[in-house]
Amino acid sequence: MSIETHILGYPRVCRRRRHKWALEKYWKGKIGAAELHAAMAEIRADNLQAQADAGLTMLTVGDFAYYDHVMELAASLGVVPARHAEAKTGLDRCFAMGRGTATAPACEMKKWLNTNYHYFVPELAKDQKFEAQAADDRPPDAAAQAEAAAKAHQLPVKAAVTGPLTFLWLAKIEGGDEAAKLKLAPGLAKAYAAMAARLKAAGVAWLQLDEPALSLELPEPWLAALAELYEPLLAAERPKVLVANAYGALGPRLERVAALKIDGLHIDMRNSAPEELARANELLAGRVLSVGAVDGRNVWRANLPGLREALAPLAQRDGGLWVGSSCPLLHVPMDLEGEDPAGELRTSGRFAFARQKLDEIAALGRGLADKPAAGDEELFKTAPELPLRDPGWAVGGSAAGPLKPSERPGDKGWKDTVLPTTTIGSLPQTSAIRKARSEWQKGAIDDAAYQSRMKEEIKACVEEQEELGLDVLVHGECERNDMVQYFGELLDGIVETKSGWVQSYGSRSTRPCVIAADVKRPAPMTVEWSKYAASLTAKPMKAMLTGPVTIICWSFPRADVPRIETALQISEALRAEVADLEAAGLPVIQIDEPALREGLPLAEADRKAYLEQAVHAFNEIVKESKAQIHTHMCYGEFGDVVDAIAAMDADVISLETSRTDMAVLAELVDSGHRAGVGPGIYDVHAPRVPGVDEMRRLLELAQQRIPRERLWVNPDCGLKTRAWPETRESLRNMVAAAKALREGAA
Ligand code: GLN
Ligand code: ZN
Repeated sequence: MSIETHILGYPRVCRRRRHKWALEKYWKGKIGAAELHAAMAEIRADNLQAQADAGLTMLTVGDFAYYDHVMELAASLGVVPARHAEAKTGLDRCFAMGRGTATAPACEMKKWLNTNYHYFVPELAKDQKFEAQAADDRPPDAAAQAEAAAKAHQLPVKAAVTGPLTFLWLAKIEGGDEAAKLKLAPGLAKAYAAMAARLKAAGVAWLQLDEPALSLELPEPWLAALAELYEPLLAAERPKVLVANAYGALGPRLERVAALKIDGLHIDMRNSAPEELARANELLAGRVLSVGAVDGRNVWRANLPGLREALAPLAQRDGGLWVGSSCPLLHVPMDLEGEDPAGELRTSGRFAFARQKLDEIAALGRGLADKPAAGDEELFKTAPELPLRDPGWAVGGSAAGPLKPSERPGDKGWKDTVLPTTTIGSLPQTSAIRKARSEWQKGAIDDAAYQSRMKEEIKACVEEQEELGLDVLVHGECERNDMVQYFGELLDGIVETKSGWVQSYGSRSTRPCVIAADVKRPAPMTVEWSKYAASLTAKPMKAMLTGPVTIICWSFPRADVPRIETALQISEALRAEVADLEAAGLPVIQIDEPALREGLPLAEADRKAYLEQAVHAFNEIVKESKAQIHTHMCYGEFGDVVDAIAAMDADVISLETSRTDMAVLAELVDSGHRAGVGPGIYDVHAPRVPGVDEMRRLLELAQQRIPRERLWVNPDCGLKTRAWPETRESLRNMVAAAKALREGAA
């Protein structure tokens, strides 16, 4: 009995970030289309070679994208917004959708399920026709990728394509009528059937249709649409079909998808209960069961002996067992080889990046088939004691204590100021700041020189804010490269990677930290900067911290303890920081939790525990504080978390609201929230300067929902990506809008 081994997808960034450099050179006109295609083909060839070298029994193509797999699939189905259809070549059309042009804004970007990867939302017309577009100059689709793979390797080729259900679910439709999307199902199904036929002709053995939307609690009409979406495809001339779920459990949707006449099903073992695996085994009798055993979301080595033991009963199953990654490896860095050979990531033997995960999957397959190869013993040995399931927020019980807000009096505005004005923390990151940081990192300037340059920046920021007439000032966060990484570098137990780039969107990547051990604060982290800033002004200065949920969401958390444990360690470090800030005389402290909403588990059943734990972790930080505590959240749609916001022991919360017309405020009031609220009154994502009247209108709207004694005035989010000229003007207008409203009532 042999076991097939595969992955759902591989990172695109490539070693030395060749993906990014190639794209940027093309955009700058330094290389032409032919060179861009050649550079991308080389990366794809490397990715396939890595799979073959590791000994996987099947190669995966189609996962690669120049900009985004959802957008490129949309383009190949003819789903191109009219404003982008003008672009001359398929390549430029794709970049217009992702980056926008002078006349046509880009498609909207959203987070892919519960990850930090962003896809571009396809825009469907009400009468959308789906048709294969001529493969002019656009990024090669799965069929073209498969042809190249078949030429270079002897192994069977599997093509990964986002499935029709997920595609339709994630797309938006003209007019916003979600139910109308389902009317497009028959046309979409036909287009997928045609695509399957092309893949078959290209020599593809298996078609992997990624359906992560099946991790969501989909409304019944959507589940009922599964048959409609799949039957034409399954009846067509086609490769074998594997439906792949990831990022969560199938739950009751397992029966529905298993009822399709598909040839195999992939389930995410890291996020599914053992009973679900057992049930899938039964339902899929005679068909392939693929188990996503090796974690594609985290950087820890797999517990191979544990996985072998858990899966051994399935090794002889009727229909065959495959083992693979829990999701595409898109979410982890490429290769440990890029890290410092003497550093913890390499020497501890506890970590596996994408390239190492290939070895783990291959070895697990051989282990289950009882055909170990040389070197496998090493991978099975020194097994870290990691759990087989992701010990996320909901697992391991909640340590949630009392959620009652403390005795702090709560916010009454700033002293006597009605509608106090403030900002969210960061001010423009000027080129002088970036230059100083890079010189300091290279050792060209010493610590003292760097600190004095930063202090100059802080001084300039304070002067700007005084000049603008803001009420509560900030120091501007110039010393922070990134709001998580900054704390990651200063806290014990958190390790930085050297080249652990993970794609965020298009050519952009981030380098998340790894929470490798117990988190501790060896020394104060922000006090000197905030204290210095406060010393420059008679106005109240607000200190800035990043909260535990956000630090965890934007890092690779420990896999050996439930997240609440790590969160509470971070809370303890921040509690001490808050105490030091207070002792240093800072009257206002803001603890940002922008990731609170995005960290929500996909399964509704897990959300309560997550939110309780998040609130608990926050409240632990401030339980002894007498300062005025602010928090901040962004990334839209707060409906699901308003109760948690109400339970957070903060005196003021600022929220991103300008683009949704203050919609959340009514919900916040209904949830019993009683503290101060700073609804963002201008969008910070574009350089546009909003006028006084526009902001005044939003504030008036806010006043209808929240008593003005509780209202604060601020932008949607931090301003670090903006330049000073537009920032200055926007803030001046913001202050004027607040003033006009104060006077209006007087
Ligand atoms: N204080 C941070 C800033 O202003 C908050 C950033 C965020 O919410 N993403 O940059
Ligand atoms: Zn924000």
